Amino acid sequence: MDKKKLLYEGKAKKIYLTNDEDLVIQDFKDSATAGDGAKKGTIKGKGAINNQLSAFLFDYLRSHGIQTHFEKKLSKTSMLVKRLEMYKIEVVMRNIAAGSMVKKYGIEEGTELKQPVLEFYLKDDSLHDPMISNEHAIAFGLASAEEVTEISRYAKKINVVLKDFLFRRDLLLVDFKLEFGTQNNIIYLGDEISPDTCRFWDVETKKKLDKDRFRQDLGGVESAYQEILKRVLG
Ligand code: UDP
Repeated sequence: MDKKKLLYEGKAKKIYLTNDEDLVIQDFKDSATAGDGAKKGTIKGKGAINNQLSAFLFDYLRSHGIQTHFEKKLSKTSMLVKRLEMYKIEVVMRNIAAGSMVKKYGIEEGTELKQPVLEFYLKDDSLHDPMISNEHAIAFGLASAEEVTEISRYAKKINVVLKDFLFRRDLLLVDFKLEFGTQNNIIYLGDEISPDTCRFWDVETKKKLDKDRFRQDLGGVESAYQEILKRVLG
């Protein structure tokens, strides 16, 4: 597969066109940002770890009936994926209170939620990704009612599948963010699944093993990412 023009460069990934218009290359970077881009840094080896983790977890989800954009791993830091038309929506699923949920609602960090919480955010950095309801998503034309229903169903299924898998590896899936898109009217899970986009805590010690170590200057960032890779790949 030939790597062609750079299509897009985001905070943590670069997307390249290929000689097949339905496929693009997703290349994971070591750079990290937090707090709406206020904090910038590098997490050494993150690109390769997030590529491996995402590839593995996309494969795992596919084996559980979830369609994803993942085609195959190409190199240490890159994978071939379907080119999707992305919804301008970030989908967050939460099992345990952390992050913005704690700040916004005053719930104590670590509180186990009585049921998983599904949230939608408008993907717009200039507006700081405001939370929206599914009615907003439909009313703003971001997705049809049917698409919102399907995306919600996928997000809930992904949560159950990943939560169970990770629990067997002594990890709590606290919360995570998903992005979906379409190709030929079929909805696929896109983006990545990694410690950049999920919160993972050790079951016993509740130690944070994700990007919160970078966000909160907790130290041991690289080793936390390595630990997740080791536990997930087994
Ligand atoms: N998240 C993400 N990208 C974002 C915002 C959130 O990947 O732009 C992930 C984050 O890593 C966490 C979950 O979504 O696993 C919920 O994030 P939260 O709303 O608590 O926001 P944060 O505290 O990260 O600002």
